[in-house]
Amino acid sequence: KLVTKEFNPQGTRIKVNQVEIGNEEIVVMAGPCAVESREQLREIAGFVKEVGAKVLRGGVFKPRTSPYSFQGLGIEGLKLLYEVKNEFDIPVITEVMDPRDLDIVAEYVDIIQIGARNMQNFTLLKEVGKLRKPVLLKRGLSATLEEFLFAAEYILLGGNSEVILCERGIRTFSDFSRNTLDLSIIPALKEKTHLPVFVDPSHGTGNYRYVPSMAKAAIAAGADGLIIEVHPHPEKALSDGPQSLTFSDFRRLMNELKAIASAV
Ligand code: PEP
Ligand code: MN
Repeated sequence: KLVTKEFNPQGTRIKVNQVEIGNEEIVVMAGPCAVESREQLREIAGFVKEVGAKVLRGGVFKPRTSPYSFQGLGIEGLKLLYEVKNEFDIPVITEVMDPRDLDIVAEYVDIIQIGARNMQNFTLLKEVGKLRKPVLLKRGLSATLEEFLFAAEYILLGGNSEVILCERGIRTFSDFSRNTLDLSIIPALKEKTHLPVFVDPSHGTGNYRYVPSMAKAAIAAGADGLIIEVHPHPEKALSDGPQSLTFSDFRRLMNELKAIASAV
């Protein structure tokens, strides 16, 4: 199988502009859960870049549980991502849910995100496999390690070798947090695959108070990078405010991560 360690023993490295994912350096992607406005995105982009994030995240097609919740700005949001990416010279990542949106999204952004809810949308995975563009594939809400790797295999089989795996928490009986962040999948994935492994402590916990600890633990456990939700006013966020870090919390975390990254 293409995903196995034996297929590429030295490990996959993925170049996104000047950023390289999968080397010794930890890469942090940060930004709002959802792109809400030009002002919001510019403010966040400038800040996260200043404190060391290498990629700006921002959802424009949002997979919301309730159809009454904010669904994202769609194409308008995509254009904002493109505008802000150029203004601040920072690569951007956004989620795609519908294969019909893939071509336009691939034109505007640097990394395509496949969300947890679509990890086994095999039609979407096959289409993404045809692109020559990095993909961040999130672990499904109840996916086993094997199912996760088979999902990545779908993309690799299409000829797209630039896949980043992302642990983002799974559904368990434990209900004090939104999801249970499965940190032990990091060394398990590292054993089995050559693909870079990221962790999303924001969705993994659902609570901004637990995000810094889990972010640091993920790096200590060998993750290649993190994707973190940041918002200047989490209480006003149109989605995932409770798990979003404020600017000051994110700045502190980035400083703490430096110490951990140099220790591992
Ligand atoms: C997100 O990154 O905003 C998101 C919806 O993530 P997930 O697919 O992991 O729930
Ligand atoms: Mn979110």
